[in-house]
Amino acid sequence: MEAPIVNAMSVDVEDYFHVSAFDRVVSRARWETFESRVVQNSNRLLDMFDKSGIRATFFVLGWVADRFPGLVRRIAAAGHEVASHGYHHQLLYLMMPEQFREDVRSAKHTLEDITGRPVLGYRAPSYSVINTTLWALDILLEEGYAYDTSIFPIHHDRYGIPDAQRHVHRIERSHGTIVEMPASTVRLGGVNLPIAGGGYFRLLPYAWTKWGMQRVNRVEREPVVFYLHPWEIDPDQPRLNVGRTTRVRHYGGLHRTSERLSRLFRDFRFDSVAAVLKLSPQPGHVRVAAAQPVLSVARPN
Ligand SMILES: [Zn+2]
Repeated sequence: MEAPIVNAMSVDVEDYFHVSAFDRVVSRARWETFESRVVQNSNRLLDMFDKSGIRATFFVLGWVADRFPGLVRRIAAAGHEVASHGYHHQLLYLMMPEQFREDVRSAKHTLEDITGRPVLGYRAPSYSVINTTLWALDILLEEGYAYDTSIFPIHHDRYGIPDAQRHVHRIERSHGTIVEMPASTVRLGGVNLPIAGGGYFRLLPYAWTKWGMQRVNRVEREPVVFYLHPWEIDPDQPRLNVGRTTRVRHYGGLHRTSERLSRLFRDFRFDSVAAVLKLSPQPGHVRVAAAQPVLSVARPN
């Protein structure tokens, strides 16, 4: 029997009030006024990963890292990968390229200063690398990022490149080659459907995630990247006054996420994104210049 595929486990470390769909009711200026729950929820996730022997990638928001550096140190000390979710959680299609550069640069430097280790990976807020924001990949390369996991190959009202490649691949850009690990989907009847994480994990039956991941692992022999947020295991988070669609997407199924995660951890093998991509930084290169080929890149399998 073939060895089971090792999938990537990832957490976007942000607070419940950072969610892009809340932008209209929660201005950035008010972030400081909310009760923060990101540390306690991330600690719970760290405990769950520890009990299951899982290493994950934590895409930490720079804003969170600056306020809670102890959390970032704890994540790194537990053997997990610390990667970047940008600094201000601004959607890419609402930013100018130079604003984006500043955002991903300051997030990377903040995280590297805290952990003393290079940050290799980036995930955009709400998967906002879309056809009109592919310039972001050039900037990520220039800023020393080695991989991106921000492209969702589906149709969705707020993100997605429906015809993007579905599995790990390299994207050639003028400033080099970036490794892309797209959000995971199954292809059914010519349509890509999301399978692995976030609201899809909370709102659809667990059997959907399990079936989809097994199909990708066993039939396509490819790894899946699962994603979640610390607030998704927190049914007691303060409720914000938002519209119906956002209410369902954000608050639906919060009470069952933890128990489902336990099942997921029993049913599949996981490691960090960098481990699945076989990306390893050379020691000492904290701020890797894009031109230096210091990373060994290999496809899984
Ligand atoms: Zn986010």
